[in-house]
Amino acid sequence: MRIKVIAGNWKMHKTIEEAKSLARGLAERVGRPFSQGCVAIFPPFTALSEVKRIIEKSSIKLGAQNLFWEEEGAFTGEISAKMLKDVGCSFVIIGHSERRKYFSETDEIVNKKLKSALSFDLTPIVCVGETLEEREESSTFRIIEEQIRGAFKDIPEDSALKVIIAYEPVWAIGTGKVASPSQAQEVHQFIRELLEKLYSKELAQNILILYGGSVNPENIEGLISQEDIDGALVGGASLKLEAFSLIVEKSIKA
Ligand code: PEP
Repeated sequence: MRIKVIAGNWKMHKTIEEAKSLARGLAERVGRPFSQGCVAIFPPFTALSEVKRIIEKSSIKLGAQNLFWEEEGAFTGEISAKMLKDVGCSFVIIGHSERRKYFSETDEIVNKKLKSALSFDLTPIVCVGETLEEREESSTFRIIEEQIRGAFKDIPEDSALKVIIAYEPVWAIGTGKVASPSQAQEVHQFIRELLEKLYSKELAQNILILYGGSVNPENIEGLISQEDIDGALVGGASLKLEAFSLIVEKSIKA
C-alpha cells in the first residue's frame, strides 16, 4: 500500500527566526509518527540547519527546494546533494515550475539533478505540469509525457522507484485555481500508465504521485480521496501553521 506524503514548499519565504517558529509549531502539532504517512518541510537554504535542530526529535522530514548536480567545485552560488545530506535533508524538490520558468531549467537539467539526488540517497520530488496554454490546446498529456521521459532518462527501475512525482499544473500554482479532483486524477492515472510502459506494472503501482497547486484545507479531502493521488505538495498554505496542519490531519485521516 502506498503511504501519503504531505510536503510544504516554503519557497523564498521566512527569516531564520520565522522559520524556527513555524517549525516549532509543526513539530508540536503534526510531529508524531504516522504509520501511513510522512510530512516533509522545505524551508529556504538559510534556515535548513536551524529547522533541522527543531524537528530532529519529531517525525517531520527536512527537504531542500533545489540542488546543483555536481558534488563540489567552482559553481558560485550553488548547493550540492552532498551539502544537503550534510545539513540533514532527506528530500529535495527538483524541476519546480518556478525553476523551469525563471531559471530556464530543462528536462535535461532535471535529469542531471535527479541522478545526483539519487546518488546521495536523497528522496527527490520531481515536479511536472502543463501551462494553461498547453492545457487549452489539449497538449497536457504530451507535455507530461515529455517531462517524465526526460526526467527519468537512463534511470534504472530500482532507483526510479525511490522518486516521488508531483503533478503541478502551472495554472494552479499560487493562483487559487485548484485542479478539480477528476482533472488531477486523470493526469495521475496517465502518469502511472506511462510509468508502466517505461518500467513495469509494479513500479507504476508503487511509485508515489503527489498533487500540487493551490491545495488548502478546504480542497484537500476531495483530492486525496482520488485513487492515484498519494499526497500533496503545498506552497502558500504551508506557510501557515493552522492551514498546513489541517491539510496533514485531513490527509492522514483520508
Ligand atoms: C508549489 O509551489 O509547489 C505550490 C503548489 O504552490 P501553491 O500551493 O501556493 O499553489
